Amino acid sequence: MSIDKPADREPGFSTLAIHAGAAPDPSTGARVTPVYQTTSYVFNNVDHAAALFNLEVFGNIYSRIGNPTQAVLEQRVAALEGGTAALAVASGHAAQAVVFQTLMQPGDEFVAGRQLYGGSVNQFNHAFKTFDWKVVWADSTKPETFLEAISPKTKAIFCESIANPGGIVVDLPAISAVAKQAGVPLIVDNTLATPYLCRPKDFGADIVVHSLTKFMGGHGNSIGGAIVDCGSYDWLSAKKNYPALQDPNPSYNGIRMAETFGNFAFALAARVLGLRDLGPAISPFNAFLILTGIETLPLRMAKHCENALAVASHLAGHPRVAWVNYAGLPSNPYHALANKICPRGAGSVFTFGLKGGYEAGVQLVSNVQLISHLANIGDVRSLIIHPASTTHRQLTDEQRAAAGAGDDVVRLSVGLEDVDDIVADLDQALAAR
Ligand SMILES: *Cc1c(COP(=O)(O)O)cnc(C)c1O
Repeated sequence: MSIDKPADREPGFSTLAIHAGAAPDPSTGARVTPVYQTTSYVFNNVDHAAALFNLEVFGNIYSRIGNPTQAVLEQRVAALEGGTAALAVASGHAAQAVVFQTLMQPGDEFVAGRQLYGGSVNQFNHAFKTFDWKVVWADSTKPETFLEAISPKTKAIFCESIANPGGIVVDLPAISAVAKQAGVPLIVDNTLATPYLCRPKDFGADIVVHSLTKFMGGHGNSIGGAIVDCGSYDWLSAKKNYPALQDPNPSYNGIRMAETFGNFAFALAARVLGLRDLGPAISPFNAFLILTGIETLPLRMAKHCENALAVASHLAGHPRVAWVNYAGLPSNPYHALANKICPRGAGSVFTFGLKGGYEAGVQLVSNVQLISHLANIGDVRSLIIHPASTTHRQLTDEQRAAAGAGDDVVRLSVGLEDVDDIVADLDQALAAR
């Protein structure tokens, strides 16, 4: 934190969203964090270069491993999530790949709640299989299924805080209790909630991942991802093997990451091993755009939730709508859990069902005018998609139903337009034939 503050005061969330990690540029005085559009950085001398490569001092070497614009983004995300450190990468999926590459060995397993972003289901089922990492599926609405899925090979548990696209709020304390019992870290994808609505660390998460592409950046203009180290998992006394954290590292003079770097060892290992060797670096320009977006995160999330609640309430009373699954509605089965996990609001992504099934879903997305029919969420613009004909079409019928993406399901990401205009657009599109 670079803002002046009396020792007894912690800055609030909005202050952190604007200031954490940033200071006026020391060489120019530029107040906004510049885009450091450079690949590499001149060493002070040979000893400085050696110390950087030995991890004896931290500093810039090469922008695949770190960049000053990216560093401000990382410190800001870490501050908002209450973590010890963070790593920004090229996408949300890159964040997941780097996290698991840091934790897993061939033959290892992890348990994941099956109510996930469709792309994560694909990544876990198919891409990860080629690395011989096995996903074992549990049900995020039934924390006991995570315990049943644990085996001696389990190295981690993964779930979303608010699950996409089902609108399910996940009982993080219950799943964290399973992770503690199994002795493995809990990884939470906090993309839909953002730290404004939910801080998974406060409910027992050890690692938080983000698609910064969505609400964090917030404007639909940049792909990015982040990994947050909550500093809570004790790699040194773990009963499981995590060689990247625990073993002497041959590419860094035999240092042991967990021993040397303590409560930020995971973020560091993910950077100097995972990001270094796999290579999904975020571009400095994307880091800049996402940083700018984060400055208004509290304002945007509050308004996203307000608009989403109004739209969900309207749809719940619409004659062509069979059901609305938004945890912000008092009648929703997840409402009580939402009040506990994300008391400021249940986010702005939710699903609803059309009485006309698959055809009605296709009709609706074809007839909206203000709302954009596309595969994204977390934009200032309102977005709509019919998962069965798009994002979830590669899944089997059974997987689709389990993921909350059956034939009649439509997903909305409610934006920041005037709510009357959003409602009017939905009404005309639902009336059209
Ligand atoms: C979009 C998304 C991802 C993947 O992020 P990308 O930035 O598109 O790679 C992962 N999890 C959730 C919940 C998402 O919405």
